[in-house]
Amino acid sequence: MRETKSTCPYCGVGCGVVIEHDGAQITGVRGDPDHPANFGRLCTKGTNLHLTATPVVLQHQRLREPQKREARGMTPSALTWDEANREIADKLLAIRAAHGPDAIGIYISGQLLTEDYHAFNKLARAVIGTPHIDSNSRLCMSSAVVGYKQALGADAPPCSYEDIEAADCVLVSGANPAWAHPILFRRLEAARAAKPGHKLIVIDPRRTETAELADLHLQIRPGTDVALCHGLLHAIIWQGWTNDAFIARSTDGFAALKVLVRDWTPARAAEVCGVKEADLWLAAEWFATSPASLSLYCQGLNQSSSGTAKNTALINLHLATGQIGRAGAAPFSLTGQPNAMGGRESGGMATLLPGHRDPGDAQDWAEMAALWGVSDLPNRRGHTAVEMFEAAARGEIKALWIACTNPAQSMPDQATVRAALERCELVILQEAFAHTATARYADYLLPAATWGEKDGTVTNSERRISRVRAAIPPTGEARADWRIVRDIAALIDAGLSRAPRLAADSAEALWLEHREATRGRDLDITGLSWITLDTEGPQQWPYVAGPTARLYTDGRFATADGRARFITRPFQPTAEATSPELPFALTTGRLRDQWHGMSRSGSVPRLFAHEGRPVVRLHPDDATHLHLADGQLVRVRSRRGDVVLPLKLDGNVAPTGADIAMHWGDEFIGAQLGINAVTQGAFCADSKQPELKFSAVAIEPVDLP
Ligand code: SF4
Repeated sequence: MRETKSTCPYCGVGCGVVIEHDGAQITGVRGDPDHPANFGRLCTKGTNLHLTATPVVLQHQRLREPQKREARGMTPSALTWDEANREIADKLLAIRAAHGPDAIGIYISGQLLTEDYHAFNKLARAVIGTPHIDSNSRLCMSSAVVGYKQALGADAPPCSYEDIEAADCVLVSGANPAWAHPILFRRLEAARAAKPGHKLIVIDPRRTETAELADLHLQIRPGTDVALCHGLLHAIIWQGWTNDAFIARSTDGFAALKVLVRDWTPARAAEVCGVKEADLWLAAEWFATSPASLSLYCQGLNQSSSGTAKNTALINLHLATGQIGRAGAAPFSLTGQPNAMGGRESGGMATLLPGHRDPGDAQDWAEMAALWGVSDLPNRRGHTAVEMFEAAARGEIKALWIACTNPAQSMPDQATVRAALERCELVILQEAFAHTATARYADYLLPAATWGEKDGTVTNSERRISRVRAAIPPTGEARADWRIVRDIAALIDAGLSRAPRLAADSAEALWLEHREATRGRDLDITGLSWITLDTEGPQQWPYVAGPTARLYTDGRFATADGRARFITRPFQPTAEATSPELPFALTTGRLRDQWHGMSRSGSVPRLFAHEGRPVVRLHPDDATHLHLADGQLVRVRSRRGDVVLPLKLDGNVAPTGADIAMHWGDEFIGAQLGINAVTQGAFCADSKQPELKFSAVAIEPVDLP
């Protein structure tokens, strides 16, 4: 029996795993005791990882060979890699010639490795010439990216997991790490047990398992986070808890923000947010006066039409109190996916170029054009996720190449997404799993290697780059994602009578190209080698002379003048409001034991023990008011569509709130569009992240025949 160290493919905690195998079959997984994210621990999903690679799963649930569908609705049939690559390259070239490169969109995933991201980015921008490449990470952390850049000058979480242990006060806002980042939650629990007087504040419309642990739960109305932060800042200023020396030395813009929050008295903020004013004062005191305060935040802030404003309003609290740049003091955005960070670093998104560059910035563009030796790179931002599918639904995008994600389940406003997939002339799906909703729309299905079968790197929430290693060969004829991309890119380049622009022949070679793109940037890793990653383990960027655990310790930030910015943004209501017709505020969230669209975690029967079926959760008082009973089938109806689900009465959901787990696709909810039939595509103007956390819905009884 052999052992191979790798990284868990589920969440952004990025736990190290030891894969037990015989070179042909994975037989077990245990936590890597040497990995600094988890020190040997794994959550339920990680512990059961080997069950996603059993012979039965590999045989029946994996996509094993390239397939082609002669016409939509038909069963796909197998073809060789050579045939698939040639046909796809020819069709992309034909669409490019007829409609221009902008008619091709590429939609990828935070599950991909950094090297895959780098290959896709070159395929899109350098080979095809389209700016339209975006990632499903747009749905989970783009507001955090823009928030960091606006306030601190760079997209860089300024702290490390060890700051969870160092903090005296932790403010969790719009996150439920007990379920979504379980190993970090275990670290938080242990830190509280070891530190008498530790304070935990949780801001969440639901009473989650994380909120159960809190000293103070601010159960705000959905979408009112900015109002709460403004009220907290008002209280901090009123009490004289600001760090005036830090504000004067290291920041700009506080005077304008003070004017804005003058009107946000704690009484007013408490009323808007639906919390007790005394609780707001207490939260302000704990956060401002604790020796070190850390905030942890995730989708509750990000998935919002004012997601960037929510991020910057929280960062304002850190800047006003000087709770940043010290052990245990920082605003810490938790990433959802295992390599959302790597996607940001390698620029595989419509608003980014490699090395945290901006495609619309002339100097950034020129640097990348020189680095890649390509003078015709698109010099503008492309369509982000929602925009890309809307453009396809309008017929502007003719071909979509989708990799390692399932937009026919995970994107909001499914009616538009399905219309886009139906209208496209060409849909290519590069995927490890055979039975996703998106697979039904694909003209070509390309089998991708996945966890346990491929090599590369990922970066977790604390900027730590970890190796991912293959333990067994790819299933069937599956290939590494970067290799699939490279081979088709070579055929496209040949069709355009030029030398290959994507020629790297290994994950390491791609990583070295990526590394070079970071030179001189805030995420510079030019001092880090592949051998160091292999022999000394995971390392945090920036890495020039060595790893960096904490940023801004000298009070200087990544802006041109070294000063952080207070961002003055007013509180904005959600994109749509509840009404007498649609009186409930629906939020979507994660279950403890499932992952995204369940294409991987759904193959493990025991992971359904925690929650076995989709339900809509409603407060018992609301159910009583509507004469609805626990278990009854109800229709959840929004302006865009509806789903029928059993009702679950749950006192942890706030009155007039409703909650559905995000994981359930149409295969679990009958012949419908999954839960995203009801969610909306409205997005934050700055980050383009859609408002998955708020949809106005009605809950109605279903008349059974
Ligand atoms: Fe995997 Fe996240 Fe669980 Fe760690 S906490 S084992 S990375 S799912």
